Amino acid sequence: MTEHNLSENLIEGRVVPTHRTANFSAGPAALPTAVLQRAQAELLDYNGLGVSVMEISHRSPAFMEIAEHARNTLRNLLCVPNTHEILFLQGGATLQFTGVPLNLLGGADAENDADYLVTGAWSQKALVQAAAMELGNCRCVATGEPNYSTLPSGWCSQNAAYFHYCSNETVHGLQLEIRDIAPFVADKVPIVCDMSSDILSKPLDVSRFGLIYAGAQKNIGPAGLTLVIVDKSLLGRAHNYCPPVLNYTVQAQNDSMANTPPTFAWYLAGLVFEWVAEQGGVAAMAQKNTQKAALIYDAIDSSGGFYRNDVAQKYRSAMNVPFFLPNEALTNRFIAGATENGLLHLKGHKLVGGIRASLYNAVPLPAVQQLAEFMNEFARKNG
Ligand SMILES: *Cc1c(COP(=O)(O)O)cnc(C)c1O
Repeated sequence: MTEHNLSENLIEGRVVPTHRTANFSAGPAALPTAVLQRAQAELLDYNGLGVSVMEISHRSPAFMEIAEHARNTLRNLLCVPNTHEILFLQGGATLQFTGVPLNLLGGADAENDADYLVTGAWSQKALVQAAAMELGNCRCVATGEPNYSTLPSGWCSQNAAYFHYCSNETVHGLQLEIRDIAPFVADKVPIVCDMSSDILSKPLDVSRFGLIYAGAQKNIGPAGLTLVIVDKSLLGRAHNYCPPVLNYTVQAQNDSMANTPPTFAWYLAGLVFEWVAEQGGVAAMAQKNTQKAALIYDAIDSSGGFYRNDVAQKYRSAMNVPFFLPNEALTNRFIAGATENGLLHLKGHKLVGGIRASLYNAVPLPAVQQLAEFMNEFARKNG
């Protein structure tokens, strides 16, 4: 197997040799090499304490500083207004599928309807799990089933406790901007968004959202941490059945330490936030991500139909690019050839098959260039 030196970063001016393969995993996904190197350097002895971050109390001054610094760095990166709380929770985005209705439906005087836009596997799951709680009436306003290749039309959300959608469908490769959504949602209806696979990939107007949630393992850090950014005006509405660890109000009052938080994941997320800031922030990320995605979509579109991606041009995801070859034998040969060339974790999600290239922030441009070259060559030889 070919090994690639994809490290783009120096640590304190030293070039640290690394052998990092091109990792297109959908999640848990690539982390910046510089972040892992820094964590490695600090692992045994964090800041002269003689212990690792994993071994200290979440209430110790050292960890409180790590926690606060991560929260502030994120607030600056995404320009999160003071109207919104930032919470560091556990349970993945999946737990928020039920956490959202537990917090926003079923309170004494709250409206009891919620509107869901279904644009792929993840928003579909969110709806199914929310509806199963039976705390209110969770309605599907529109669905892109069965192909999920575009934004459904002819819907609106006017009277609901919240409207829910997913900004980037990780399985189906469909990405939506808030401007695609907002015109169809009444101003008084808070917008709730699952941003697990595209948060931090581009600038974001947080003030447009009542609630944003994201599992960490795509674009934030290791698995085990879930971010929630919530408008303070939505606090205090939780249902009696909402467990305290899932209750945004309780967690906000306790600085996300209603119980022991995932301390090491929180620390690593903080390092990733710093790395994003050093790279020039989310605007710089967006520029690079657009460039990376264009390489892969160009390889697809210039293949004369050998590769196929059915998502409407406007909604093609810059983060997850699913594509299909003419048959399964070629798909398998593609994966084997890619693996031989050090291009890893390209197998498509089991729901849709084919290939999926995930191009999160931490996937470096040279890795994507190698993949595009491999795709072009494979199409030439097999097309
Ligand atoms: C990965 C993912 C999830 C599920 O995340 P878990 O951490 O496994 O709960 C939910 N939504 C989206 C958009 C995802 O990409």
